[in-house]
Amino acid sequence: MDFGAIFPLLSAKGSLKSFFIMKTVYSPKHNLRNPKTELAGGQLITPFESPQRADYILSAIQSQQLGPIIAPAQWPRSLVESIHDIGYLSFLDTAWQRWTEAGNAGEAIPNIWQSRSMPSQRIPNHIDGQLGYYSLAGETSISEGTTEAAWASTFVALSAADLIHQGENSAFALCRPPGHHASKNQFGGYCFLNNAAIAAQKMLHDGAQKIAILDVDFHHGNGTQDIFYQRNDVFYCSIHGDPMEAFPYFLGFSDEIGTGLGVDHNLNLPLQRGATFHIWHQALHHALRQICRFSPDALVISLGVDTFENDPISFFKLKSKDFTQMGKTIASMNLPTLFIMEGGYAVEEIGTNTVNVLKGFKNEAA
Ligand SMILES: [Zn+2]
Repeated sequence: MDFGAIFPLLSAKGSLKSFFIMKTVYSPKHNLRNPKTELAGGQLITPFESPQRADYILSAIQSQQLGPIIAPAQWPRSLVESIHDIGYLSFLDTAWQRWTEAGNAGEAIPNIWQSRSMPSQRIPNHIDGQLGYYSLAGETSISEGTTEAAWASTFVALSAADLIHQGENSAFALCRPPGHHASKNQFGGYCFLNNAAIAAQKMLHDGAQKIAILDVDFHHGNGTQDIFYQRNDVFYCSIHGDPMEAFPYFLGFSDEIGTGLGVDHNLNLPLQRGATFHIWHQALHHALRQICRFSPDALVISLGVDTFENDPISFFKLKSKDFTQMGKTIASMNLPTLFIMEGGYAVEEIGTNTVNVLKGFKNEAA
């Protein structure tokens, strides 16, 4: 792709003021994550989390000229090991091969979990047992190429974080698969590696003292909360569907405030079915006030647009124009801001809604 043709001024001068544009990091390797099955409604359906999602976002970025699109660099495995359990990463490395070598014809779907009545801490040897141990839900199948795509998605996040480190005031990581449901040692909710957590950890590694993660995806980012729950250098805040009624069901309640050093560094703002942008925006203002009190060096946005009114698996009522205001309001924080793509399953509108947030942010920040 010739980005010079899309942004001739950049090629000609190399110095458009950075606040007029936002750089996007993107890897076509997301296409390696192309599962055929999702367990939903008692059936194996075509997954909601599809390659077309990233295609639509990329297309909207190009047509609306958000800024240049750049490829990710490779990053050391140690950065990912600073967030994820080594045994879990080894599991992801070999899961597909072991699943197929065991003679399974379909995609790898867990079907047994360590339940309340079986509190063993042992990690089984068999691939079926390991799938249960290393997963939090059964909708997300592991398919051929999944792990390579997940790593490419994380490299996208790390490269976008590096743009902030190099002085950009914002950047967009077009991550796919998403990451915020992935915990230290569990996949699920379409997520395998927690891109936002890994990027935040890199920013700390690069010298930031405090990072705030604001998760605006419809679903609570259980993985991100779990990873930072006992820490006071990362403030995690999420606005999401009430977990009494919405995935991930078992985390995301307002009384989860952190433990140990992390007390008061976790803020959950669950909202009820049918929440409009007026209600949602009030929660955003509350979240931003708390982030302001934390006084972070930078902001990481877990950007899901499944709060959209026509999203097929969610129940908020945001309209496309509301995403522009969302971006504007986030820009009012005047912080270096890294946007990391998470969910959004109304595929034909995902590009418009995502770019509305980013352009709303840039126009206000400019
Ligand atoms: Zn979501």
